[in-house]
Amino acid sequence: MREKNTKAQDICKELGLKLTPQRMAILGYLDGNTAHPSAEDIHAAVSRRFPGMSLATVYNTLASLRDRGKLLELTIDPSKKRYDPDTRPHHHLICLDCKRVSDIDHVFDLEVPDPFGYEITGNHIEFYGYCPECKGKKTTSAPARR
Ligand SMILES: [Zn+2]
Ligand SMILES: [Zn+2]
Repeated sequence: MREKNTKAQDICKELGLKLTPQRMAILGYLDGNTAHPSAEDIHAAVSRRFPGMSLATVYNTLASLRDRGKLLELTIDPSKKRYDPDTRPHHHLICLDCKRVSDIDHVFDLEVPDPFGYEITGNHIEFYGYCPECKGKKTTSAPARR
């Protein structure tokens, strides 16, 4: 826990953000988090410790981190934005049922045949399907065919 706080402090300092306990808690929650939480998920988790924290505080902190390249904002889930503290280039996979988002670290050898004169600096692939649990539910809960 102490290590996490030091890291959160470093990030705040680096970004020139005021060190507030709420911000520290948000950064601590995001640190090493691979669940790709939404702002609402983060708010729900952190407001357990800081009951007075507003969703706006969460949004503002996330926006500062995103704007400074410390957080990826993902649009893979059409119902809400998801956040990823892992800013290395990687791809994502979403379960269409439970909306679980997983990382795909594979490097795809992609080339745009005619990049319209653009200098391509990155890409992001979104995969979708059904996770093992949801796939299982689908087959077991499906009505029996007559
Ligand atoms: Zn699922
Ligand atoms: Zn990710």
